[in-house]
Amino acid sequence: MGIKTSQEYLGSLRELKPCVYIAGEKIDNVVDHPLFQTSLKEMSKFYGWQTDPEKREDFTYFSPLIKETVGFWNHLRQSPEELVKLVEVIKKHNARHFCTMCMGIGLSVLWAITYDIDEARGTEYHKRFRRFFEVLQREDLRYCLGVMDPKGDRSMPPSRQKDPDLHLRIVDRNEKGITVNGAKIHTSNAPLMHYFLAMPCRALAEDDRDYAVSFALPIDAPGLSFITRPAPGPLAPAKYENPVSRTIGFVESLSVFDNVFVPWEDVFMCGEWEFTEQLMNYFSPYVRLVKGTCTSARIDILAGAAALAARCNGVEKAGHIRSKITDMMVASEIGWGCVLGSIQQSTMHPSGIPIPDVGISNAGLYNSRTRFTQFMGTIMEIAGGIVTTMPIESEYTNEDLRPIIDKYLKGKAEIPTEERMRILYLIQELTASRWSGYLMSSVICAGGTPETNRVDVARNYDLEDKIRNVRLICEHGC
Ligand SMILES: Cc1cc2nc3c(=O)[nH]c(=O)nc-3n(C[C@H](O)[C@H](O)[C@H](O)COP(=O)(O)OP(=O)(O)OC[C@H]3O[C@@H](n4cnc5c(N)ncnc54)[C@H](O)[C@@H]3O)c2cc1C
Repeated sequence: MGIKTSQEYLGSLRELKPCVYIAGEKIDNVVDHPLFQTSLKEMSKFYGWQTDPEKREDFTYFSPLIKETVGFWNHLRQSPEELVKLVEVIKKHNARHFCTMCMGIGLSVLWAITYDIDEARGTEYHKRFRRFFEVLQREDLRYCLGVMDPKGDRSMPPSRQKDPDLHLRIVDRNEKGITVNGAKIHTSNAPLMHYFLAMPCRALAEDDRDYAVSFALPIDAPGLSFITRPAPGPLAPAKYENPVSRTIGFVESLSVFDNVFVPWEDVFMCGEWEFTEQLMNYFSPYVRLVKGTCTSARIDILAGAAALAARCNGVEKAGHIRSKITDMMVASEIGWGCVLGSIQQSTMHPSGIPIPDVGISNAGLYNSRTRFTQFMGTIMEIAGGIVTTMPIESEYTNEDLRPIIDKYLKGKAEIPTEERMRILYLIQELTASRWSGYLMSSVICAGGTPETNRVDVARNYDLEDKIRNVRLICEHGC
């Protein structure tokens, strides 16, 4: 089949019975539950893009693996050109829709590492992973990526934690498969997916062998449960307020594994701790590539919002406003340039996929995300204090109050007040709402923190080479 419609996606979720807790209760059905509606709208929209005549060119691909059309989220990019298409699609659609769920890039990471392990050890992880990949493609299924462990005391590796379950681990192996215990944390949208894809979150040492585990598991596997936090969006429908969080925002889960059995055919790493550093070397550039693209696109939204608010306020030509918006443009272009540069400098992995440059992708994301957080303040300054003091929607839609608000909240005479209200509500949502906290955290923490970017840049930067050159300049001149 290869492509599901939104309705088929919702139907497929009804057939699954994951163990889900939300708002303090265990629920039977995510599809009809009010606290899942925002995230379901977003997921359904993504499925819908695959059949939308205006979008399907960006969101469907021919898969050489199954020789059928497959969706954006399950396609394996096998050349730098395909990576360029991937980031162009994310850049274009995130600048309009905020999110394309691009973090699902984990499939490429596991594709490469399972190949490496098989080459070195004669195992059959890659063959198994390919089979899993083909199932995802054929049935157009989605998975959540469970990388991050709860981690406990961050200064200590998994095997030295007081509680051994603070990182997901193998507790038993037999001829049929493995049993895992522990948890993953911050798992986005897990109950709305078909599979849970687990992999380690850090490089491990020999004592941590049991923590070197990767596998796929049906989302309703016995022993797997999700303690889920609702998406940060509004529950009541709105006409003016919350233009983003009405449909954008993932539920987030603490995913608990209580002695969960995984059959061998779905196990992609089992104890090969020596390969976890290399796993991180693939994870880092892939995740930073897509996250860098997404952040550059979100800066574009901030730039557009700042410019529109300034126009409504009649200050679009003021020198300091233009200068601040130009800073946004510069940051967006640097981020985008690093994305493209990291693809241009990619190397081909023997499994047939490109691995983007680690240093450039991390440097780009570091710059974009730190600038983004500054721009959140800048955009508030440009829009003015009205962002947090303006009348709420129920007053704006009250027919007695509306003319008064239209009169006193007018900016530039030629621009209808409603247009100004709409951009102010958007900026309020971006910078001063429950959702803006989620946005900040997703820019700063999701995909690894800025410090991880700095570490990965420093690790891959040949400083000794620069010292050698400087010595030569000192000794011989230029
Ligand atoms: C919106 C959102 C969605 C996400 N979605 C997913 C998802 O779908 N799947 C998934 O697996 N993860 C997901 N994440 C998790 C994300 O990858 C992590 O938040 C990120 O990697 C940082 O880990 P942490 O939050 O556990 O930070 P912590 O480990 O708690 O770090 C807190 C601080 O301590 C520092 N620190 C930590 N360890 C050390 C150390 N050993 N030495 C020095 N300093 C240290 C960090 O740099 C940071 O400053 C998501 C996060 C967010 C915010």
